[in-house]
Amino acid sequence: MNLVMIGTGYVGLVTGLGYAKLGHRVACVDTDVTKVAGLDRGEAPFYEPGLPELLREMQEAGRVMFSTDLADVIGGADVIMIAVGTPSQPDGFADLSFVEAAADRIGTLLDHEALVVVKSTVPVGTNRRVLDRIRRKMGEAGREALTSLVTVASLPEFLRPGFALRDFMEPDRVVIGAEDAVAQGTLDRLHDGIDAPRVFLSVESAELTKYAANALLATKVSFINEIANIAERFGADVREIARAVGLDRRIGPHFLEAGIGYGGSCFPKDVSALYQMAGTTGYDSRLIATVIEVNNRQRERFVSMVEQDLGGVRGRRLAVWGLAFKGGTDDVRGSAAIDVVRRLVGLGAEVVAFDPKATELARRMLPEQVAYAPTAVDAATGADALLVLTDWQEFKDVSFEAVRDRMAEPRVFDGKNLLADCGLEKFGFVYRGVGIKSR
Ligand code: NAD
Repeated sequence: MNLVMIGTGYVGLVTGLGYAKLGHRVACVDTDVTKVAGLDRGEAPFYEPGLPELLREMQEAGRVMFSTDLADVIGGADVIMIAVGTPSQPDGFADLSFVEAAADRIGTLLDHEALVVVKSTVPVGTNRRVLDRIRRKMGEAGREALTSLVTVASLPEFLRPGFALRDFMEPDRVVIGAEDAVAQGTLDRLHDGIDAPRVFLSVESAELTKYAANALLATKVSFINEIANIAERFGADVREIARAVGLDRRIGPHFLEAGIGYGGSCFPKDVSALYQMAGTTGYDSRLIATVIEVNNRQRERFVSMVEQDLGGVRGRRLAVWGLAFKGGTDDVRGSAAIDVVRRLVGLGAEVVAFDPKATELARRMLPEQVAYAPTAVDAATGADALLVLTDWQEFKDVSFEAVRDRMAEPRVFDGKNLLADCGLEKFGFVYRGVGIKSR
């Protein structure tokens, strides 16, 4: 098939290349001129394992091309996919302006039969509004007669940064929200070669499924953080509890890791958008409101713990390991680590940070007083405490003897419980995790 992907961010680029790998011809469009120029040169615009190799492979095979203008590539497109951002507005609602701009542009240019697919995470009702906008623009352009040739379908994306290529090729399921059998069939065939169950549902159900999935995962995180806070008071260990609870097949082991809470470009904005979306119908979702509140409080609690144990952080030198919202990515959007560092700087701490991949992007979001070190050990040099804020697995391999020898005080606050099993006490550290008895 001929596929046009609008938006070459984490989702658009990964899935665009993924569809090319499946054998389709893919044209990726992005309004970001610098990004498109880099992609043309074969440069991936963000860190994702395997992405540069797949980009090169698909470019060499001639199955992917990049453009800044939809007009150049829309001719002959069977499927046009919208994968632009839907960030949070200050009031928590999803900002749909990028989706609307993409829809208007499609309507202005489209002059043949096509299936428009919304891959962006959007509130219920957006797909229908996208179809209305496209048809209105077609009408304005004098193509009223062709409007019945356009259909819209919802294809929510569930990939995880850090595992994005694998998640595309081996998803748990493909969720297809389409009203008619033709659109269902097209999207089924688009995924030929992907061995995963197809879930066909209504457009509205598909839109809500993405929010439900993210909200449920966020709920698990807030739930285990509540248990961690209770466990601390009784001298129990949340990791032992999470393991025992997670072995129950009805519950499962994932997203039961206590710490400084969830972050990222999806969970915080999607959980807020779900709450606001429900509110527009007059429904006040207490559960979702509490998930958000617990998550925010978890960051505050961590900062308070550091403050209390150090007797205040003003003028204290703190080493921070990790700024990305999770290990394996350079994505810092909505990162709990960024929030924690901002709060500590606000309280007068001197922060020296290290992240294996996210330093450059984090630098743009953090106060200028924050210093950056080239290695984890350098960040720890002279520090009064070390804070682990991202679960980069490679932090476990750092020489803890070297870290101890360089620090002013061998003290670790672990916001991810990442080093809990590394025997830091043996090296002379005072170690504190979240929901773990202090040792
Ligand atoms: P992103 O911000 O990384 O990328 C969006 C891209 O769209 C940018 O490159 C931007 O320049 C481009 N763009 C904006 N308006 C455009 C237009 N009118 N025409 C062409 N290009 C345009 O966003 P993302 O992280 O890829 O997320 C995209 C959507 O997918 C969001 O709705 C998000 O919630 C959802 N999603 C994201 C993830 C994830 O892990 N990042 C996972 C699942 C779903």
